[in-house]
Amino acid sequence: MHIPGAALLFAAAIGELALAVPVQDSPRQRLLDGKPLPSKFYKKPKNPYTPGFRDPLDSAVDSVGRKLDPLPFRNGLGQSVLGPWNPERARQNPDLVRPPSTDHGDVPNLRWSFVDSHIRIEEGGWTRQTTIREMGASSQLAGVNMRLGPGVIRELHWHKEAEWAYVLDGTVRVTALDYEGGSFIDDVGKGDLWYFPSGVPHSLQGLGENGTEFLLIFDDGHFSEESTFLLTDWLQRTPRSVLSENFHLPPEVFDHIPEKEKYIFQGSVPKSIDEEQPKGKYFKKSKQKFTHKMLAQTPHKTSGGEVRITDSRNFPISKTVAAAHVVIQPGALREMHWHPNADEWSFFIRGRARVTVFASSGTARTFNYVPGDVGIVPANMGHFVENIGDEPLEMLEIFRADEFRDFSLFQWLGETPQRMVVDTLFSNDKEAGERFIKEIKDAKKDEVTKFADDSEEEEEADRVDLRR
Ligand code: MN
Ligand code: MN
Repeated sequence: MHIPGAALLFAAAIGELALAVPVQDSPRQRLLDGKPLPSKFYKKPKNPYTPGFRDPLDSAVDSVGRKLDPLPFRNGLGQSVLGPWNPERARQNPDLVRPPSTDHGDVPNLRWSFVDSHIRIEEGGWTRQTTIREMGASSQLAGVNMRLGPGVIRELHWHKEAEWAYVLDGTVRVTALDYEGGSFIDDVGKGDLWYFPSGVPHSLQGLGENGTEFLLIFDDGHFSEESTFLLTDWLQRTPRSVLSENFHLPPEVFDHIPEKEKYIFQGSVPKSIDEEQPKGKYFKKSKQKFTHKMLAQTPHKTSGGEVRITDSRNFPISKTVAAAHVVIQPGALREMHWHPNADEWSFFIRGRARVTVFASSGTARTFNYVPGDVGIVPANMGHFVENIGDEPLEMLEIFRADEFRDFSLFQWLGETPQRMVVDTLFSNDKEAGERFIKEIKDAKKDEVTKFADDSEEEEEADRVDLRR
């Protein structure tokens, strides 16, 4: 009890208790027995961004949810801010303004918000991208966020990079032609995927009342949505005489083709797939499945959430992109882990997160993410994702890989000779070593993990003050 705050708290609790009649399970008796009190006896946690605040545990602070303005004070160090300041951005980045004391050294920027990306506005839709140009660490994958209104078309096109997509909302019709000349059409909705291998020509069209919005992933960070091969662009760049020869038609048929690329434009509302399917003599249906219902997969339930993994094992065409859809309940943690085969390109759909990336050589840096943010975790770097908000955290982990792979720290230590673990971590505290070994003895991977605290009330009160 060296901390004035904690002492005051204690005094306040005792003060309230003075009038209480001493009974067997009275608050006073509980205090004397060293048991926690019901949460009403604890004060609301005080502002953690003040010079006197102490937290040797570096607990997360939900500055957005608690409407707090982070300031660079930590355990008696730091100072106020005198110069220009952007409170909105500071609030979204509490762990950059006041990093945990465990952060150290230089780590490149690993966060980008799509709101900082330029939006290209077109007829009935828009698009914006996060590539290596926006974020240097986005070298293996590039992301595009696109919105198409009802009937709005993303023009027939192709590109060198393979394209993977996750539908964020609404419904969309996708068309493609496979390598054997087979035609593919499907309608997909929220939580569905598509994948087009390199060079495969395709188109997209918004359906329903509101059209659609989706996240596109390309298997090269240098990709640009501005430099795809467009049908209209090609025809403009081809001599009219060649168009005439190629399509066996007189040149005047091409007098009124578009003068510039259409890219995203309002189309007519499409009929059902059966009605729209080409009916020509040589038409053949593709034997490939370019789409997949990711959210319809039965989730793998864990102690703190759920995980769905989609890669070439259950979506065979997706040879270069693997992904996990992860839900992290409030108070739960995507456990400490790493990915051996590729950089992680994370996309945050819902909730608020804290992620510390351990980059070896004594370096680590913590970043925060809100919906619409992109995170990168380079391959093999250790990390966790902590839900610091009061709602479920929903995110995608995306990889340029054929299979999703991760190593769980918990599982690894459980499957390592116990003597080795204790010698390494607990040679100075045998008792702690015994407790640790007991906990990890039957360890298994628990992708989203939750520490089942026996006292709910204890959790509600300020953890920092309670542990003093
Ligand atoms: Mn495309
Ligand atoms: Mn990860």
